[in-house]
Amino acid sequence: MSDPAPPARPRKELSAPQKAMHKLGLVRDIDLALHLPLRYEDETRIVSLREARDGEVVQVEGTVTRQDIQHRPRRQLLVTLDDGSDTCTLRFFSFYPAHQKTLAVGARVRVRGELRGGFLGKTMMHPAFHAAGGDLPDALTPVYPTSAQLPQAYLRKAVLGGLQRADLSETLPAPVLESLKASLRGLRAPLMSLRQAVEYLHRPGPDVALAALEDRSHPAWQRLKAEELLAQQLSQLQAKRERDALRAPALQTRNGGLHEQLLAALPFALTAAQRRVGEEIARDLVRQVPMHRLLQGDVGSGKTVVAALAAAIAIDSGWQCALMAPTEILAEQHFAKLIGWLEPLLEPLGLRVAWLTGSQKKKQRTEMLELIASGAAALVVGTHAVIQDQVQFRNLALAIIDEQHRFGVAQRLALRSKMGGPELGAGEPHLLMMSATPIPRTLAMSYYADLDVSTIDELPPGRTPIVTKVVSDSRRHEVIERIRAQVAQGRQVYWVCPLIEESEAIDLSNATATHAELSGLLPGVLVGLLHSRMPVAEKKAVMGLFSGGQMGVLVSTTVIEVGVDVPNASLMVIEHAERFGLSQLHQLRGRVGRGAAASACVLMYAPHEGGRLGETARERLKAMAETNDGFEIARRDLEIRGPGEFLGARQSGAPLLRFADLATDTHLLEWARQAAGHMLADHSQAAERHVSRWLGSRADYLKA
Ligand code: ADP
Ligand code: MG
Repeated sequence: MSDPAPPARPRKELSAPQKAMHKLGLVRDIDLALHLPLRYEDETRIVSLREARDGEVVQVEGTVTRQDIQHRPRRQLLVTLDDGSDTCTLRFFSFYPAHQKTLAVGARVRVRGELRGGFLGKTMMHPAFHAAGGDLPDALTPVYPTSAQLPQAYLRKAVLGGLQRADLSETLPAPVLESLKASLRGLRAPLMSLRQAVEYLHRPGPDVALAALEDRSHPAWQRLKAEELLAQQLSQLQAKRERDALRAPALQTRNGGLHEQLLAALPFALTAAQRRVGEEIARDLVRQVPMHRLLQGDVGSGKTVVAALAAAIAIDSGWQCALMAPTEILAEQHFAKLIGWLEPLLEPLGLRVAWLTGSQKKKQRTEMLELIASGAAALVVGTHAVIQDQVQFRNLALAIIDEQHRFGVAQRLALRSKMGGPELGAGEPHLLMMSATPIPRTLAMSYYADLDVSTIDELPPGRTPIVTKVVSDSRRHEVIERIRAQVAQGRQVYWVCPLIEESEAIDLSNATATHAELSGLLPGVLVGLLHSRMPVAEKKAVMGLFSGGQMGVLVSTTVIEVGVDVPNASLMVIEHAERFGLSQLHQLRGRVGRGAAASACVLMYAPHEGGRLGETARERLKAMAETNDGFEIARRDLEIRGPGEFLGARQSGAPLLRFADLATDTHLLEWARQAAGHMLADHSQAAERHVSRWLGSRADYLKA
């Protein structure tokens, strides 16, 4: 059902703060009401300067005794405030005539800021201030998440207005409320109504337990978190239902077909885990509902062959399959591997494997596009180029995304909506996503609740576990000796230089310098260099020498992060390992230990000038040294960093949970999961109201 279109109204230009509010998703009254404070400021008290402690944020009131403008080291306004107990210097680097007027000598002012004690007496940098007088507020002052164009005071007013107007009536049906109450009892939190909870969080009284508000354990927060998690679970369940109503071609394996032929042609036997996930996928493909499955398995667990087998099923049923990888090098490796496995089987059928990347020559590209449109290309391998507009499939039935977390949500949506082809009609292709970054259970349950997950939990036989050592940069020469020894045994070595985000140039010069250093120290060894700025042809040449075994050492920036497969490489050195994220380190380490030889990973760190590593850097390196298990790494990573990185969502703007924390709110998440199923089944209108209240126009993103 859709409402009639509203009458055309002349559009008013939005003011800058209004635009900023839109950008933050603060459009409806309910959005404003649910925009909850990050923290609170206590303006209910005035303290005396003498009692205030260094580093404390305080509110003081006193008389201005002096006002000066100094020009050294920078132009600044200095104001001395005397409250009778002590004096304090207020310092402003940016100021206007109005500042000077309010802070004129003799004026009484109320000032709030962080107090710093120092050699020259107490100071406050850029405190908030206004003329003294007026009652002290009797509630804490909320501080809202905001952006540069949106002043806190403006937002505060807007939020309080929205709060008054918004409909905060109950959406949870009685039995769901009961189950929430029971769940909260476990957390020793009484159930508050939504309106009570929201009003409380915007305007907590002066007697509040600030700690419970700040760590979000307060019953009001519990209620909000429960609501938010429920909305998310509902929207995911809905997405799953909607997908279940869609149609996809049924893809059947047949005796003596491609699938069987490929199995027989492989140079190895599948592991039990590969067989199991292969069957899970085959069971999905045979249904007329689009598969939506994540295949997760640690680096080196052998996901590619599982993908190839799925492709064989699609091709054997007369349909096309596409495989998309995040980088050109990775796409190329897949291409080489899949050609090796599949082309001998496809050739007799008159079918081809096509290849699509951004750097391709126009002539070749045109040729590939024709193969794809005609259906002669049974399998298409490539980078993002695969989802561009010009690409028209004849009958795509299976889309495979490797390293799915490296693609944005928008790209995943594009893949779904663009693909297909004339023969698919209104149907959708089956979707298989692969990832070496295992998703911890809580994340899988929340962000990926509408996704089926298959897990390869076993490495191919004959691999020896990688030994990981954490060493200080001061032992660099020992590390280089070790490289020499490995190369002397015919083994190969990766040396990874860190990405310095602020400067690709420095990044590059580091890698170049290391390359020169190692070349000098390892005479007779071919040392190669690989970085993202290199022309593709050069990259390919270097990778070719390394995978061919002629190159002993490969120095690179993080371009080798994903997918590269050179089984003879047995040593991985990561320089400035303290600058890498945990899952990134794990992925890098996974480049070795792919053959039978014992492999090692050396994490070199360079402490800051202060001589010590930061807390989280230390935790990361420790985790790496302690475990090779990708799931354990992922769990710890979630603890250290929060869920954003897993979802690749920061860049793509997908909504993360704003209030609930998956590391601590598992209890509520379990409740939300159950409640969502129950609500969709028995209270579908309430469910719809709940989702639209919480997610509004953003609900779409959760379906990607
Ligand atoms: P990932 O899961 O990281 O993508 P790959 O698919 O690249 O792993 O596989 C890693 C290596 O293991 C490849 O060289 C692949 O050919 C090999 N491999 C895969 N499955 C098996 C198996 N069952 N037995 C032996 N080697 C295997
Ligand atoms: Mg892979």
